[in-house]
Amino acid sequence: SLEEVVAEAQAAVLQMSAEQEQKAARLEALLRRQEEATRKLEQHNKKLLDLASKDPLTGLDNRRVFNRALETEMDRQARYDQGFSLLIVDMDYFKKVNDTFGHPIGDRILRALSMFLKQRLRKTDHIGRYGGEEFAIIMPDTRESDARTVINDIRERFAELTQSAGDREFHVTFSCGVARWEGEAASSLCERADQALYQAKTTGRNRVESTAA
Ligand code: GH3
Ligand code: MG
Ligand code: MG
Repeated sequence: SLEEVVAEAQAAVLQMSAEQEQKAARLEALLRRQEEATRKLEQHNKKLLDLASKDPLTGLDNRRVFNRALETEMDRQARYDQGFSLLIVDMDYFKKVNDTFGHPIGDRILRALSMFLKQRLRKTDHIGRYGGEEFAIIMPDTRESDARTVINDIRERFAELTQSAGDREFHVTFSCGVARWEGEAASSLCERADQALYQAKTTGRNRVESTAA
């Protein structure tokens, strides 16, 4: 009968829409899974990138990435003809700090200095962990005398911080060499900053020195 045919058709339509809904739900679940996989992949990629570019102890750029920033800055300055300064910071008597208070305390102080530098320097300055207890800084558009003033202030404040290991309290200082870029190769600039650092070390430490080109 006609009624039977209509009822059958209605049942078929209901069944179809139920199937459609199921399909839509399955598709949505698949999309969600794909999104999740993409997110995990992105996280993973970021981790790999961090491993290749960040220093694990301090989270600062490692030496390789810092050197690339230095080359970039040299290109930029060559175009705009402005000065920039390179600074090398080195902890004073750090071997003694480790020997006296232990390596983990030494690590904590390296992290403290990296945070201190990050907080106090300009956003446009680059900081890298250059070696074990050495940090390097690029200050774009900064004259040597201004770079000295900035790092000297940071040096004084850092030296005032009371460090502690158990119930022992002490102070840690750093020395710094500053060199203004004179259009030379990166290696020569680094060498001059290193020489200035050496001067700061030999003239008593806990001080900032610079050398002329
Ligand atoms: P100076 O004032 O002449 O710089 O003396 P110094 O003892 O700091 O210099 P030296 O180069 O003789 O020794 C550096 C020390 O820094 C040796 C090493 O134990 C320590 N050091 C290097 N990397 C790390 C690190 O990642 N963690 C810790 N805790 N210590 C480190
Ligand atoms: Mg050193
Ligand atoms: Mg040192």
